[in-house]
Amino acid sequence: MTSEASQPAPPASRLGILAQLQDLDVRLEQIDHRVAHLPEREIRTGIDAELTALGSEMSALEVRIEGLERQQRRHEDEVARIESKRAQNSERLYDPHMTSPKEAGALTAEAEALGRHQVGIEDQILELMEQIEPLSHEHDSLADRQSEAKARRHDVDAVIAASEREAQVERDGVLGERAALVAAADAELISVYEQRRASARGEPVVGRLVGTTCSACHLEIPSVDYERIARLEPDEMAECPHCGALLVR
Ligand SMILES: [Zn+2]
Repeated sequence: MTSEASQPAPPASRLGILAQLQDLDVRLEQIDHRVAHLPEREIRTGIDAELTALGSEMSALEVRIEGLERQQRRHEDEVARIESKRAQNSERLYDPHMTSPKEAGALTAEAEALGRHQVGIEDQILELMEQIEPLSHEHDSLADRQSEAKARRHDVDAVIAASEREAQVERDGVLGERAALVAAADAELISVYEQRRASARGEPVVGRLVGTTCSACHLEIPSVDYERIARLEPDEMAECPHCGALLVR
């Protein structure tokens, strides 16, 4: 795509090559900026925050459910103990060797007490189950929301990856053009450009003289300076008196 769009570079002056180089570097910056600020990244951050919130809500619910289930298991163990005690009790009560009416009375009373105790505990188990049920439903619906958010994140990630791949192709194309330009240019001039650009923090270091205006800062060159610059050879370096950009004319 990029190679079709790129025209063979028009013959440029020594300094004109720097303007072309700067255009390519600006394009590289724009590509990087676009990739770094894809709207999908913000969407992804939102989904991540959503997943974090869902995760902690689910963990809190799990802690509550596990606590209630632990209580339920303890009660169930207690019921099992009572049942085995009741079984032993009735074994002794119906033992043909059991002849003492007093002992039989005590065993019967104990069996009744155990029965009441068991009913009480079974009621508590039912209450716990009633408490657990809505919490489990809540947990299920949070889990559904979690899967749905994860699916959305997966889709957003795919869009980001596709944009990154696309940008990489575009970037490689621009880098190819840049390498060709640098290979054809004067090495000393390139090094002047690179040094200026390294300390320019993204500000243009090359400006085209458009009429009497510097295209880097869009300010008009004072006529005294303009006349001086106009008298220079096209390849001689001249700086914009306002922004210091190398002026291509
Ligand atoms: Zn300027």
